[in-house]
Amino acid sequence: MTKDARHSDRLGTLAVHAGLDPRANEGAVSMPIYQSVTFAAPDTEGLEAVNSGRARGFVYSRVRNPTVMAAEQRLAALEGAQSAALFASGMAAVTGALAPLLQAGDELVALPDIYGVTLRYFTELLPRQGVTVRWAASLAPEDVAACITEKTKVIYAETPTNPLVRIVNLAALATIAHAAGAKLVVDGTLGGPMNQRPLELGADLLIHSATKYLNGHGDVLAGAVCGTRAELRAVRSFSQANGGVMDPHAAWLLMRGMATYSLRMARHNENGQRLAAFLAAHPAVGKVYYPGLPSHDDHALAVKQMTGFGGLMSFEMASPEAARHVVDATRLFAIGPSVGGVESLISQPGNTSHYSVPPETRREMGIGDTLVRISAGIEEAEDLIEDLTQALEGCK
Ligand code: PLP
Repeated sequence: MTKDARHSDRLGTLAVHAGLDPRANEGAVSMPIYQSVTFAAPDTEGLEAVNSGRARGFVYSRVRNPTVMAAEQRLAALEGAQSAALFASGMAAVTGALAPLLQAGDELVALPDIYGVTLRYFTELLPRQGVTVRWAASLAPEDVAACITEKTKVIYAETPTNPLVRIVNLAALATIAHAAGAKLVVDGTLGGPMNQRPLELGADLLIHSATKYLNGHGDVLAGAVCGTRAELRAVRSFSQANGGVMDPHAAWLLMRGMATYSLRMARHNENGQRLAAFLAAHPAVGKVYYPGLPSHDDHALAVKQMTGFGGLMSFEMASPEAARHVVDATRLFAIGPSVGGVESLISQPGNTSHYSVPPETRREMGIGDTLVRISAGIEEAEDLIEDLTQALEGCK
């Protein structure tokens, strides 16, 4: 961190300065990319000192790399976490956070309404490793508490959820988890450190698909786990063995993306609120799911737990045909998966985030063929509204 920024804990300043000390990098104000697998030791004693932790240094990039470490420090600063570990993707972070916490015979309590591939991991892969996954009947804390047994090691939640943008009561879940001697693991991808602080609300580990808002430019796959130094030691030990660590070039892109995080996120929040209000008032649109709208089921909790509501929303059209039409007729919105990039995206979640979930399970989750999801980018809100207006024409 530079001299002037050392005493600031404000997000916009941390986003630019945390993790980078130009004086330690030939004066570079952009973190150099250490595109090297091996780091030569001065001598055998020096190598042994780094290996044993007696001296700080680098040996091999699967274990530690200066560019990756700088990006980790920047993210930890943004989240107010003691430590952060970066992974090759959000899914590598999900598996990397959970692996050290679970072994055969343990139980994980999962909240419904989670990312489709995480859902597949919980239904198809974790049970094969001898871990029982218990699904809470709803997001309500009492339904989560009802699933706790003496074997519960983890409560796993996403907030906000995708695509219905439900909000989960993190403080209540942390109380339930800790009373049971379990950990609360939260995927906070769709919130981000500007909008919510899961670690401050009691989460033990916070996961990000940094592919989304943190990087924000739709050009890098990245995952992260944040938490205490002790928790992260176990996470790193797993990731070094599993090998799904981040590449230095991806870390550099992520670091550059994070530098503008607070500017971008403020615009996503603003555009999200304006688009949701527009959609809610449109006669061709049914229910709109956006936590910044007073009509949203979790609006009160969102206001209490969050300081902004992001760019993700979804809405119901009158028929599957109308839903397809509005997706296809937009011009500024790219059709495809992902969230949180500078560019606006549109899709039916059944074709993107929840494609891998069987249609009947999707319907049980409230993700029908009439649902359309939008990720509001950072374009001008007027242009996005104009585009949606023309796409909705004839849909009444
Ligand atoms: N968690 C959430 C909430 C997501 O939306 C996604 C991807 O869309 C992931 C995890 C997985 O992230 P990645 O695509 O970076 O592996």
